[in-house]
Amino acid sequence: MVSRLGKPRPCDRVAPTPVATQLNVSLSGFPAQLHKYEDLEFGHCPNVACQNFPVLPVGLSNDLRVETVKLFCPRCEQVYRAAVHDAPSTLDGAFFGTTFPHLLLLLRPGLAPP
Ligand SMILES: [Zn+2]
Repeated sequence: MVSRLGKPRPCDRVAPTPVATQLNVSLSGFPAQLHKYEDLEFGHCPNVACQNFPVLPVGLSNDLRVETVKLFCPRCEQVYRAAVHDAPSTLDGAFFGTTFPHLLLLLRPGLAPP
């Protein structure tokens, strides 16, 4: 609802939806997420054959409270459960959505192995 002055009233604010958060991660937050990926803040692939290749967060569902965030390895193209000591393991996967790694790799194809 909008006040007579045309500004949203504070009581009208709502929590961001997962879709809105995904857009934030995908668009305006893209450089920050890319920086986290390059700094290995999301961790690395547990597959020995991947030689510590960095992983990307991914949700298995776009709905809240379905699954915690998982980790996608662009090298072996597998999804892994985050280790308990990893910070992202408690995040809801919906905040990254099911397409975040794929979108990032489309925008920066050099991040994916040949
Ligand atoms: Zn891997």
